[in-house]
Amino acid sequence: MIKFLDLQQINALHADELRRAMDSVLDSGWYLQGEQNRAFEREYADFIGTRHCVGCGNGLDALTLILRAYMELGRLRPGDEVIVPANTYIASILAVTRVGLRPVLVEPSEATLQIDPARIESALTGRTRAVMIVHLYGRNAMCGEIADLCRRHSLLLIEDNAQAHGCRWGYRLTGSLGDAAGHSFYPGKNLGALGDGGAVTTEDEELAAIIRSLANYGSSRKYVFPYRGVNSRLDELQAAVLRVRLRYLERENEHRQRAAALYRELLADAPVDLPAAMPRSEDVHHIFPVFSDRRDELQQYLASNGVQTLIHYPIPPHLQECYAGCWPDAVLPVTERIHRRELSLPISPVITDAEIERVSALLSRFK
Ligand SMILES: *Cc1c(COP(=O)(O)O)cnc(C)c1O
Repeated sequence: MIKFLDLQQINALHADELRRAMDSVLDSGWYLQGEQNRAFEREYADFIGTRHCVGCGNGLDALTLILRAYMELGRLRPGDEVIVPANTYIASILAVTRVGLRPVLVEPSEATLQIDPARIESALTGRTRAVMIVHLYGRNAMCGEIADLCRRHSLLLIEDNAQAHGCRWGYRLTGSLGDAAGHSFYPGKNLGALGDGGAVTTEDEELAAIIRSLANYGSSRKYVFPYRGVNSRLDELQAAVLRVRLRYLERENEHRQRAAALYRELLADAPVDLPAAMPRSEDVHHIFPVFSDRRDELQQYLASNGVQTLIHYPIPPHLQECYAGCWPDAVLPVTERIHRRELSLPISPVITDAEIERVSALLSRFK
């Protein structure tokens, strides 16, 4: 069987180092807000290329904390509109609604799968205050038009970098391109912990300080609470694990990039559509999506031949029950078509050429 993602095998690559890291936390007697967090925050900020990094409980909290902090600063007010791509994992949108802001869904371009900059402009209203871009599937969503547009209209630019650790835009990394970025270290992400974890990166010192406080009950001084905060902290254990995994991230992303290039070569004549190729550095292939009008049949066929695939994602956010009635006028044919046709092939830092050849041969024979 070819697994979609074999986390056991990925973490086994670094088992000795991970065990040593976890042992050192166990022996330290200090399990939150300690040395491992400080070291990871420094190392991750250096890697991403921002002055500040604040660890937190998970990726959804990272995005939520950014928005909450801008509300505390008066840059966002309840009811303000935040532009988000209509085709994203629901967490991007949950972060917006969780703090009483209004998500405005914007269609992606079908070729790039990323929010269509031309359509952002027409979605702007007098209440638009921010744009959240999502580097979905590990593909860079940033472009000059979005940078210009945010500057021209004084909009905050927030990045959801849950799927794109190590992805570049020019010489900079995603997570350093806007005002602030949320990162997830869910185990299956390119940089994954052994449980939940998240972080915010930003250049803005004041924002970072508010986020650090909000994530710690709203306190930066013991028993003094300027904000009504939450408890969302990164465990020392996870920080120690992430420090190990971070050392191998670029090597693992390169493995994914070689795997994706081989898929592209072998699938050139297969009966599936591929998204537009990006410059290699701009795609860290968290997901390798292919598209077919007969997606469900294709998934069945691969499964019966021992290949596990997933769908990212079967139901778009605007059609989820939890958002029933929220966008009554939504006309999102591109998003719906992507969700109807998408299938994610196995890709990981441990996938072999033989496995890619097998999956590609099966796909090419699909009738
Ligand atoms: C995983 C993910 C999140 C949420 O991260 P968690 O750590 O699971 O809370 C947010 N946005 C996107 C695009 C994701 O893929």
